[in-house]
Amino acid sequence: MTARQEFDYVIVGAGSAGCVLAARLSQDPAVSVAVVEAGGRDDAPEIAMPVAFPQLFNPLPTPLIPEACND
Ligand SMILES: Cc1cc2nc3c(=O)[nH]c(=O)nc-3n(C[C@H](O)[C@H](O)[C@H](O)COP(=O)(O)OP(=O)(O)OC[C@H]3O[C@@H](n4cnc5c(N)ncnc54)[C@H](O)[C@@H]3O)c2cc1C
Repeated sequence: MTARQEFDYVIVGAGSAGCVLAARLSQDPAVSVAVVEAGGRDDAPEIAMPVAFPQLFNPLPTPLIPEACND
């Protein structure tokens, strides 16, 4: 049997909007907030390097970042 827990607010998605909402709601210590996130990590180098940004949408035949750097 799994433990049951209740919250005043359940936010689905810890993205930009979800995190701002969670931060604002949890400023009130009387309020309990749960954030549920299903996505993976966002540490791909293409996100941090502006020159590689287009690769996220339209991969080029020759990667700007060698596969070895993606580990
Ligand atoms: C590479 C990249 C660079 C960007 N750069 C900029 C920039 O410089 N400036 C700018 O203003 N905007 C930028 N944007 C756009 C900006 O990221 C989005 O407009 C913004 O993140 C949208 O916010 P959101 O909260 O609506 O969605 P998101 O931030 O996408 O958050 C949604 C979250 O919900 C999660 N989720 C989805 N379904 C479920 C589920 N069923 N259960 C649990 N969790 C779930 C997702 O995993 C995700 O974490 C960029 C976008 C990308 C992809």
